Amino acid sequence: MAYNKDNVFAQILRGEMPSHPIFEDEKTYAFMDIMPASSGHTLVIPKSEAENIFELSPGYVGAVAKTTKLVAAAIKKALRPSGIIITQLNGPDAGQTVFHYHMHIIPVYSEKPMKVHMNKTENKEALELTAIAIKKRLG
Ligand code: 5GP
Repeated sequence: MAYNKDNVFAQILRGEMPSHPIFEDEKTYAFMDIMPASSGHTLVIPKSEAENIFELSPGYVGAVAKTTKLVAAAIKKALRPSGIIITQLNGPDAGQTVFHYHMHIIPVYSEKPMKVHMNKTENKEALELTAIAIKKRLG
């Protein structure tokens, strides 16, 4: 399947769709997942047209990993989860629904059950407040 330039994350990168930013550098962009599996669920995407791991160049794989670590550390400090899942899906059969490579950072809280599937859009104020708390803790 060829990369579709109109996928929602490409639109977010071009500023055509709103998002709640956490961090940005030359090669990556991190922002809140709009249907979070838990509070603080963040996505890290490359500024590169790649649908999946197989299309992403090694330089961008490294850049996404670096940003993921930075943002996960900020989430850990800001939200104090009891664990953090870092995962990435390749292909519809693996559950991928947006076809621009992305890493999920999903905080886990011992006191709250994990939602396996994300189907509820979080309200903008809650996403923005969480984004602010994480951004304050970026190293
Ligand atoms: P996938 O299933 O492809 O690994 O994950 C796609 C993720 O993108 C899901 O967690 C979903 O909630 C999130 N998502 C889908 N559409 C949007 C959107 O318009 N904005 C943001 N911020 N996240 C989105």
